[in-house]
Amino acid sequence: MSNEPERMPLGFLQMCIDKRFHRAIQQKFELETRLLTNQYWLHADVGGTPGLAKDRPDAADYCYRKLIEATGGGAGHMGWAAHGSNCGGFEGVDDATILSKLRTEFEQNVTRYPSTSSRPIVHHLFFATAAGITYDRVPRSQ
Ligand SMILES: [Zn+2]
Repeated sequence: MSNEPERMPLGFLQMCIDKRFHRAIQQKFELETRLLTNQYWLHADVGGTPGLAKDRPDAADYCYRKLIEATGGGAGHMGWAAHGSNCGGFEGVDDATILSKLRTEFEQNVTRYPSTSSRPIVHHLFFATAAGITYDRVPRSQ
């Protein structure tokens, strides 16, 4: 691996491993960020961002450093995701509760991984259910 900064737009996406939703979340992330699949890191773990992933920040920390170091390509993008419709990481927990947990982690990650003077960071929230994907972002408009 080279120590040269990456010269393409970059992102990071964290989600649950559930096979029903990871492709839909990736497609929505790619639509909102205009990133290609080979331009972002993917961290999948049980429960997504509000599940086990929040206790394993190594991947997000590493990718955030890479986003900040990157040159060119505009903003860095960080996606935080979970899903309802019965997540194995939250057995018996209703969708509204999981979404609330995701929003709490999302707000903490916006603070934990801030924009810098040289690199704006856009945070994206994705909550997938059988009915579709709830989406939010910070900053709200860009
Ligand atoms: Zn899940």
